[in-house]
Amino acid sequence: MLDCGLFQGRRQDMYTRNAALPVRPDSLSGVLLSHAHVDHSGRLPRLVHLGFRGPIYATRATIDFCSLLLADSAYVLRTQTAQINQRRLERGLPPLPDLYTDDDVRQTLALMQPVKWYEELVLGPHLRASFIPAGHIPGASSILLRELSTHGSCSLVYSGDVGRTNDWIMPDPAIPSGADFAILESTYGDCEHRPYLYARSELARNLRSTLAAGGVVVIPAYSVGRTQRLVYELRDLISSGELPNIPVYVDSPLSVEASRAFMRHPDVLHMPDGPDRTFARLQAVHVVSSEESRALRSQPGPFIVLTASGMCEAGRVLHHLKRNLPDPNSRVVFVGFCAEDTLGRLLLNKQPSVRINGEVVPVHAHIDNYDTFSAHADQRGLAQWIQAQPSLRAIFLVHGEEPQAFALAEHLESLTAREVIVPFANEAFSLSPTGVRPLEPNEYPPT
Ligand SMILES: [Zn+2]
Repeated sequence: MLDCGLFQGRRQDMYTRNAALPVRPDSLSGVLLSHAHVDHSGRLPRLVHLGFRGPIYATRATIDFCSLLLADSAYVLRTQTAQINQRRLERGLPPLPDLYTDDDVRQTLALMQPVKWYEELVLGPHLRASFIPAGHIPGASSILLRELSTHGSCSLVYSGDVGRTNDWIMPDPAIPSGADFAILESTYGDCEHRPYLYARSELARNLRSTLAAGGVVVIPAYSVGRTQRLVYELRDLISSGELPNIPVYVDSPLSVEASRAFMRHPDVLHMPDGPDRTFARLQAVHVVSSEESRALRSQPGPFIVLTASGMCEAGRVLHHLKRNLPDPNSRVVFVGFCAEDTLGRLLLNKQPSVRINGEVVPVHAHIDNYDTFSAHADQRGLAQWIQAQPSLRAIFLVHGEEPQAFALAEHLESLTAREVIVPFANEAFSLSPTGVRPLEPNEYPPT
């Protein structure tokens, strides 16, 4: 199995989708994990809960970040299940069990086996795998699988999440060589990120006006990757005088831990200015205890606070939003992807009011969106990754919503004249040296 991620969106639907797995856990010989983000790793403890005991291969940095993210995920899911159960109780329905426990997370981490980039992994008499850098976040990898059979050899590359070239701290995504087939993510398959310098000066201008009016800037950000990227950017804007010297808070114990974890893995980072200068720009005021966090919620502006979760689904971000959304002097700045039906997406869609923990909150604050700071390649970057692999015969697009996936499919087809497939969920194909064949339902693996 390649990755085992968590679906995010409307709670009750997500519980059902995350509870089921597309294959029987005992039919798997192992899992290859591209990186630690929970939309790739967050259902591994569910797999273990349902009986999986095989190896989970990942880079050391991925394992380290998983130890933070999976523990947090267990907590978030428990909170969400409790909310679902509250409503079920009111309707006289029996409670749902937790998707997984802290113990499942511990067992999952114990099954993880570290792999090094470019090292060949022998998974069976005829199957080999290797991990190569994907950029994106520390340890993130693309995975190349090669099957050697009596009919010849056949290989498949799974992109994981493809990062940006010339990133602030991540190496450029490596280009796999010799693959016949690719499974490619399509998160930003329909657009190109705005140029960095343009976005940076607009960000500085907007933040200056909010801070001058005494407002609060709330930046909901993923704990791993986006938080560090934005702290780095803000420190740079402050030291160049483009922003006033105001406090930058990171109000999330997980994000604070993740920033420390970055510093534990300088070997997988790209730091032209050297680790000392780079890490110095990750300094912020860390808010860890709940007392400090409560104090910050009533502190008058101006200040900037980065807080999780990035899609505003849970955590301390909800308190900051509740307080600041009704204030026309405040500003909420999105810097990463928000899935459909999440609070983040509702805010980006400019809803006049939103519901937070059952309370209706009017939205008067400014809402900004900067995909420029995304850790994902855009359409051009994804196309470059494919075009650099002339051996590819067919491409499967995954991990995007329909408009993004279909736009990318059209673009790649016109650009490369190769077969591009946007599969349905749970659709199955057979790959062989002779090509791609969709499986008949009676050939599907057992579920
Ligand atoms: Zn990711």
